[in-house]
Amino acid sequence: MSSELSAAKDKTLFTPGPLTTSLPVKLAMLHDAGSWHWEFNGKVAAIREQLLSLAGVSRATGWEAIPLQGSGTFGVEAVFQTGVPPTGKVVVLSNGAYGERMVLMLRHARIAHTVLRTSEDTPNDPVALDALLCDDPTVTHVAVVHCETTTGLVNPIDAIGRVVRRHGRTYVVDAMSSFGAYPIDFEACGIDYLISSANKCIEGVPGFCFVICRSDVLAATDGWARSLSLNLLDQLKGFQKNGQFRYTPPTHSILAFEQALAELASEGGIAGRAARYQANHQTLLEGMRRLGLRSYLPPDVQGHIITSFLYPAHPRFDWPEFYRRVAEKGFLLYPGKISQADTFRVGNIGRLFPNDLRAVVQAIGEALEEMGVVIHTLPLPVRDGRGEGRAEGLSYRESRLA
Ligand SMILES: *Cc1c(COP(=O)(O)O)cnc(C)c1O
Repeated sequence: MSSELSAAKDKTLFTPGPLTTSLPVKLAMLHDAGSWHWEFNGKVAAIREQLLSLAGVSRATGWEAIPLQGSGTFGVEAVFQTGVPPTGKVVVLSNGAYGERMVLMLRHARIAHTVLRTSEDTPNDPVALDALLCDDPTVTHVAVVHCETTTGLVNPIDAIGRVVRRHGRTYVVDAMSSFGAYPIDFEACGIDYLISSANKCIEGVPGFCFVICRSDVLAATDGWARSLSLNLLDQLKGFQKNGQFRYTPPTHSILAFEQALAELASEGGIAGRAARYQANHQTLLEGMRRLGLRSYLPPDVQGHIITSFLYPAHPRFDWPEFYRRVAEKGFLLYPGKISQADTFRVGNIGRLFPNDLRAVVQAIGEALEEMGVVIHTLPLPVRDGRGEGRAEGLSYRESRLA
């Protein structure tokens, strides 16, 4: 234990994953598990069952939960690489970086696709999708991001799903940063494939992702896969054959995940976790408002996972210096990813409680003060009702040097 890292207390992570995890989750990894031994495979089987039950579905009603090595991106790519037929075509609904990442995957796999974009502060549009599907019968799949972690916006996966189902297409939902923190009704949304990962709202550590899908939809993909390691159907057949991952499993992250699932259950499941994240998010918003910092999204589309804040309009504000000062106080913020405005992000998922959010707000206030960034907030002018936090809202704030 000679490294600096082991001597110091870990910084608290206000990021969208990897996250701050509980001590028992970290301790669960202090074991060497035999990857083909019945003991480890029993844990994998139990985890697959628990994922189905968290999703509110079951194998008896036609669902499977399939863990796959790699980060969340690998899971989304596996769905496209496995699930889209050679003549298939995908519509991607995009309003942020993760929607655009799906487009990149499709381009790499040379899968035909169209993109239906809305701006980064505007939810995906089910009406526009309906029109597109009426016009284009060659579309086989519709893909959407539930919580667009780029901004923190939550897209209406239920309304979109009703349109997809009415047109009889296959529905793919990237719920990476929302599964475990938002109740999702798989049947009502008409979901065929949902992808999430170990290191987001289940509060495990990185190492694998998982896909929850309709068994018959996946079974029909036999022979389509464009990738060996990302072949979801073969991955499922591997579990069915001998209970094992096809290739080296992420043993330590599976052990951590087993503990993380137990903690989720004892917190009251998804409802309990959602309540804590909402309390975290409220505490963050109130604190930041007191400092005069404004969030980017209109409140009606802002979710309780992660929040984008506009840079203070002040000549002394400098993101790298601000980040460094807050980090030195023990808190890691997350850079912005929005193309339309200068922002930084604060996540409130992971083993965090309202007190942690109060602490990071205090550190942010101190860092701004040290930098001489003074924010004077003026009363908000009346706007179109969605005014708070829009990029152009910067002009309402009067700033001056200290
Ligand atoms: C985190 C995330 C992903 C996957 O990112 P990885 O870095 O590959 O884990 C995909 N989509 C969304 C919406 C995410 O938040």
